[in-house]
Amino acid sequence: MSTQSDCLFCKISSGTIPADIVMESESAIAFRDIDPKAPTHVLVIPRSHFADVNELSASNPNLAGELLALAAKVAIQEGLATGYRIVTNTGEDAGQSVAHVHFHLLGGRSLSWPPG
Ligand code: 5GP
Ligand code: ZN
Repeated sequence: MSTQSDCLFCKISSGTIPADIVMESESAIAFRDIDPKAPTHVLVIPRSHFADVNELSASNPNLAGELLALAAKVAIQEGLATGYRIVTNTGEDAGQSVAHVHFHLLGGRSLSWPPG
């Protein structure tokens, strides 16, 4: 498993930086966003380092599927029966601010579309 010593989410994955973890699997973890944009705002990340969804899907599409499956499980655990959104920002135009791929799971309120 590859990690990067200067990566915030690698540090969360290894436990060097604490996070409010809501679910874990062998390959992924889900934790609450520090600055939530909805009543439920959970980030789902692979334990190993991939910069973005381009790298992840090219290197390990099975892991991409596992992340999606973990996000769906968290949605059930969080009681998001009336709906939720999974978003992954990629690159500058999308406003990606942490270069370790992550899926945002958002729910618990009505979510506007398009996101702007
Ligand atoms: P992005 O902007 O890259 O799509 O999403 C990065 C997310 O990481 C943001 O929603 C931001 O609030 C969250 N975040 C940044 N630093 C931390 C941190 O130290 N802990 C946690 N739990 N979330 C963080
Ligand atoms: Zn990383």
